[in-house]
Amino acid sequence: MDIILDLKIIHSFWGSIGAAKRQAMREVANTGGVILDVCAIEVRDPSLIFVGSLPTATIEPESSPTPGRRKIRPAALGTFHTTWGALIRPMDSIGYFVLRQPLSFLGTLPPPEASTILVAMEIERHFKSMQLGFIGGVPCISCNELIPEQRLMAIPGVRTCTTCQSVKEGEKK
Ligand SMILES: [Zn+2]
Repeated sequence: MDIILDLKIIHSFWGSIGAAKRQAMREVANTGGVILDVCAIEVRDPSLIFVGSLPTATIEPESSPTPGRRKIRPAALGTFHTTWGALIRPMDSIGYFVLRQPLSFLGTLPPPEASTILVAMEIERHFKSMQLGFIGGVPCISCNELIPEQRLMAIPGVRTCTTCQSVKEGEKK
C-alpha cells in the first residue's frame, strides 16, 4: 500500500533518508520548485500540517507580517520523498517535500541573517486513515520550534514552548 498520509499527497519511498534527499534534489532540477526539509508532521482532523525548514530566500512575504506561527502556502505540491523508517521512527529529517513556487508566506519575517526558516504547511486531508497525533517532534503552535522532550514529558499535552508560554502569560497580566 502506497498511501499513508493522504491521497492528495504523492509519496515516494526510498531506501534511505539520504536517497530521499537526492531524489528531491533531482525532482527540483527537472521540474523546478523548492525543498521543504520536513522535521515534524501533525496529523489533525481535517488537516495534515508539515513543519520543516526552507531557505529564507525562497519565501515571498505578504505585505503585512502577522504574529504567530509562520505558515507557507505553495502554488502546488510536488512529491514527498521519504522512507518507511523515517515515518515510523523519525530522525532529524522525516522527508523532503518538493513544493512549487511561489510560496506565499504568512507570519513574522525571519532576521535577515537567517539562511533557513522553520515554517508550517497545512494540507486538507482527503483520506483519513492515520490516527491523530504527531510524526516526529511536537512543534510549538505559536512559533513552530520543536518542543524539547523534557517539557513534553513534564507537561502532558503541552503545545507551546517555554518562550511562547511566558509571552502569553505576560500578556495576561
Ligand atoms: Zn513557541
